[in-house]
Amino acid sequence: MTMNKSSKNHTCIICGKDYHSCDSCNQIASFTPWRIICDTLEHYQIYLVILDYQQNKINKEEAQMMLHNIGVNVNTIDNFKPSVSDLLKDILSEDNSEPEIGDGM
Ligand SMILES: [Zn+2]
Repeated sequence: MTMNKSSKNHTCIICGKDYHSCDSCNQIASFTPWRIICDTLEHYQIYLVILDYQQNKINKEEAQMMLHNIGVNVNTIDNFKPSVSDLLKDILSEDNSEPEIGDGM
């Protein structure tokens, strides 16, 4: 009998980590079951920021501020999935104080 109770049946959309989440629990929950998208609430909050940003509901500055509020910085995003980490780096690297020099656009 192989009854693996801790079977990883979900993958976090942010960090790509496999985790276990009870599907029947998620189904009876009346609130948004963030557990089916991310392994931690923090990662789900990051996911929401990215979603809003990609849908142009918030601009880069706002996204950056929200990420700061969650406690996200360039040092904490290296463990995330490459696509997520690249996007977050792009948002977080936005420097509002100085214009970039040498970018031939
Ligand atoms: Zn995660």
